[in-house]
Amino acid sequence: MHEMSLALAVVEQVADAARARGIGAVRRVVLRVGELAGVVPDALAFCFELACEGTVLAGAELATEWLAGRARCRACGHDWATGLPPQLACPACDSADTVLLSGRELEIGSVHWAEPEAATAATAAIEEE
Ligand SMILES: [Zn+2]
Repeated sequence: MHEMSLALAVVEQVADAARARGIGAVRRVVLRVGELAGVVPDALAFCFELACEGTVLAGAELATEWLAGRARCRACGHDWATGLPPQLACPACDSADTVLLSGRELEIGSVHWAEPEAATAATAAIEEE
C-alpha cells in the first residue's frame, strides 16, 4: 500500500532525526502532500498510527497540509489549478505541452519534538522505498 510505505518512510526519517538529537518523544509531524500525489487521507492517518507504534513517534499527532495541483502551459503561459482528477491540457489554448508546477509533493514540513526545544523548520523530501 502506497500510504503504508509513505508512513514507514516518514516514521523512519523522524525517528532518525530524534535519535540524532537525543530526543525521546515526538509530539506532532506536519506533512506536506500534493493533492495529485495519490495519497488517501484516511489511509494515511491509519497507516501513520500503525507505523508509529513502538517508536519515539508513538502517540504523535499527524497534521497534513494539502497542496493544490497547479500546471502551466508552455505554449501560452497560462497557469491554472488542475483540480482532481487533474486537467493537464491547457484550458486557455488546449495545448498538451504543459508542466505540472505543484501537486505531487510528499515531504515532511516540520516536526514538533516533545521536549521544550523549538520545532525544526527543516523541510525534507520523503525518500519512499
Ligand atoms: Zn495554453
